Amino acid sequence: MTPVIALVGRPNVGKSTLFNRLTRSRDALVADHAGLTRDRQYGHARLAERDCTLVDTGGMGEGEDDGVARPMGEQARAAVDEADLVLWLVDGRAGLTTGDEQLAHDLRQLDKPVHVVVNKTDGLDEDVALAEFFTLGFTRLHPVSATHGRGTRQLAEALAADFPALPAESDAENDAEEAGIRMAVLGRPNVGKSTLVNRLLGEDRVVVHDEAGTTRDAIRVRYERRGETYTLIDTAGVRRRGRVHEKVEKFSVIQALRAVEQAQVVILVVDAREGITDQDLHLLGMILDEGRALVVAVNKWDGLSADQKAWNHKELDRRLDFVPWVHVQPISALHGTGVGDLYPPIHRAWVSAFPDAGTNQLNRILRQLVDAHQPPLVGRHRIKLRYAHPGGTNPPVIVVHGNQAEAVPGPYRRYLENGFRDALQLEGTPLRVELRGGDNPYAHKPNPLSARQLRRRRRLMRHVKR
Ligand code: GDP
Repeated sequence: MTPVIALVGRPNVGKSTLFNRLTRSRDALVADHAGLTRDRQYGHARLAERDCTLVDTGGMGEGEDDGVARPMGEQARAAVDEADLVLWLVDGRAGLTTGDEQLAHDLRQLDKPVHVVVNKTDGLDEDVALAEFFTLGFTRLHPVSATHGRGTRQLAEALAADFPALPAESDAENDAEEAGIRMAVLGRPNVGKSTLVNRLLGEDRVVVHDEAGTTRDAIRVRYERRGETYTLIDTAGVRRRGRVHEKVEKFSVIQALRAVEQAQVVILVVDAREGITDQDLHLLGMILDEGRALVVAVNKWDGLSADQKAWNHKELDRRLDFVPWVHVQPISALHGTGVGDLYPPIHRAWVSAFPDAGTNQLNRILRQLVDAHQPPLVGRHRIKLRYAHPGGTNPPVIVVHGNQAEAVPGPYRRYLENGFRDALQLEGTPLRVELRGGDNPYAHKPNPLSARQLRRRRRLMRHVKR
């Protein structure tokens, strides 16, 4: 598990700028899916060699307008409660405001590290800018300029030093064959998640292992069905809520992230009566970003008229047309119809997420793809793709090496992805094709220069020599 940092602060203090700056390096690695609006609520960052997840609470129901001035919306509050570390951004130019004092009061109650980041300090005397914020009683203060990037490296180091030692999931827990396919059920509140989980764990299943996991609030339930074992990961307490509604579920982006992170295959539940909403797409984006395999369950299919069903099919095709490889299964969690039909696509997704294609096969496919359709020219040179090998599973990664491979434009990259996907018959999992320059597949430079950077470098070297 990676540590989670919640980023809080009033509007306009520079949260998105800092967020983008801290997550930029990692975001480049996340595949872009045409048709998906990027959710900027969270991002991955690598701070001082440690991976972490940054959650921007700014986008979360702030300013819920009930006439009461409150420093944080409910969702932001939940995110702060669940995070390992809080990053509180204040405006060094505006100085301390009443809102800040209120927030400080709330944050002091937390039993976790709070780092106060004083932004917009460029051109200011840092000591003066920090001074008034010291009165809030926090000891970890950092002057930065998010737009200029000043102070962000020191900030990253200070944060990383405060990362808790999170229990790395033991290999036994993760890879144990007897644990079967690890699944998580994800979806907006009220789409029918707990109904589905209860259905999955229904009477005819043998629950073989049911206890709170070692990883904080994650509960793992292992069960058997027709001789196969499955493990359901429940970080949102979906199961505990059971059939009775104690209280309305608060959607938590952190819980969703944790569930996705721990699962191999995610069942994304949507509500047939509402179609695919933007929040559904955000969840889908989260699953794709984490590279997890998935199946979409369209719940509450019962009681729909033939017209509604037809409309639904069309609407689902339209909104999910950028992930044509995802299996969409109509179900009624309430009545149990279609729930059993989730298992075959779950199995296909799992098998696809852990493909056993070797280097020979991948190279054969690469040659066929390149023969059928040459890579484009870059300047006067044609890109040459020479060699492919497997680079990872869940998500499957295929590494392709070649001359100027990193200059392959988007459409050709998608052509390669689709080609590999078809040839390997991958269903229900994202696939990453990583293009690396250089002919030698074993010369893995961690950070190869782009073609343009190389040209620039050569140009600069000429100046150096003169
Ligand atoms: P969760 O918040 O996603 O866990 O949703 P719940 O499982 O608590 O379900 C929310 C509401 O939808 C409850 O009133 C359920 O009875 C109802 N519901 C769940 N699945 C179905 C279904 O397949 N059909 C119908 N008609 N209602 C359902």
